[in-house]
Amino acid sequence: MRTPLVIGNWKMHGMQAEARALAAAVRDGLKRKVAAIVAVCPPFTALPVVAETLAGSAIALGAQNCHPEPSGAHIPMLAELGCRYVLVGHSERRKEMGETDEQINRKVQAVLSHTLIPVLCVGETAEERRQGLTFTTVEGQLRAGLAGLATDALTKVVLAYEPVWAIGTGVNATPAQAAEVHGYLRGLVSELSSKETAQAVPILYGGSVKADNAEPLLTEPEIDGALIGGASLKAPEFISIVKKAAAPTGAAREGRR
Ligand code: PEP
Repeated sequence: MRTPLVIGNWKMHGMQAEARALAAAVRDGLKRKVAAIVAVCPPFTALPVVAETLAGSAIALGAQNCHPEPSGAHIPMLAELGCRYVLVGHSERRKEMGETDEQINRKVQAVLSHTLIPVLCVGETAEERRQGLTFTTVEGQLRAGLAGLATDALTKVVLAYEPVWAIGTGVNATPAQAAEVHGYLRGLVSELSSKETAQAVPILYGGSVKADNAEPLLTEPEIDGALIGGASLKAPEFISIVKKAAAPTGAAREGRR
């Protein structure tokens, strides 16, 4: 059974004091154990204060990016700060920084080689969806992003389906649209490795997830949690989403087996 995973991506929000306060509010709001894994990815400048604030809690730390080179203290810097997850291939990096699938694949491999968990983001633009290219786009990104990984490594990857048109727009994919793509991605992982491996890989949905629209998405058996931008900056909203992810319906739980 895949445990729901909810990751907050704070982007470039949070000076030291704000980041400390937000991390403390999330930590305190989730003091009682929930049936979900929770992680936050603060800006790099806030990683130390957030690491310190979350120390000893069940909330994991993540980084929003990494460098693929093994030499130099790149990913080890993140590991030293206590990061467990690294977001790789976020659409904003693909677009704004011109990150290629090949670079993204190198990052995925590098993160795994340091025993951290890459969260590989894939997703189509509005134009690609209009042209009926959703599956072609996500398939290309997934195959390239996971190229060269052995089955053993594939079981350690987290995938995030983030349609570009849904990120920060307030328009999220319908549960059916998201579930369709998640099912497709799981089928591809199965092709690349095995059905068992595909069943073990968490696939998160990201794109304008809020407390008031999370439930129908998170109760889809194919959706194993969420990657959250804007709503992760408000502790009560983020905590409410985590609680929804932790309490999916019986049907969704069955579907994740
Ligand atoms: C994101 O940036 O990964 C994201 C999902 O943002 P938002 O939740 O604000 O759409």
